[in-house]
Amino acid sequence: MNISHIEHIGIAVSNLSESIQYYENILGLKCYSVEEVKDQKVKTAFFMVGQTKIELLESTDTEGPIGKFIEKKGEGVHHIAFAVSNIEESLMEVESNGVLLIDKTPRKGAEGLSIAFLHPKSTKGVLTELCENKNIDLKG
Ligand code: ZN
Repeated sequence: MNISHIEHIGIAVSNLSESIQYYENILGLKCYSVEEVKDQKVKTAFFMVGQTKIELLESTDTEGPIGKFIEKKGEGVHHIAFAVSNIEESLMEVESNGVLLIDKTPRKGAEGLSIAFLHPKSTKGVLTELCENKNIDLKG
């Protein structure tokens, strides 16, 4: 598998606009995008830090994955996303090494990325996301 960098760190928050204010006013970062991902029952906000993003996740549904996470653990770091050059191959590779997959095939995440989650039971407790930016590939 070829990981180039940490694409983003996903952070579960209970109030997106309050959290955006913290990241902007206290940390001095600039939110460049707010997007709802209906599939995941979340609203996301993105900040660029070098080549890594911070992805804030607010649940739009208490039964969604972020809603359940916050109910169990409260706000905090939710997942780490690695950028890979070929997500389909990477998934096959980790699966052949015995890693449990949450997503057997990639699906569409925020920002048009192809994403897939690995099960934290297989990744030393860290919910791990692989993502490939196919938008960039198309442009060469
Ligand atoms: Zn993510």
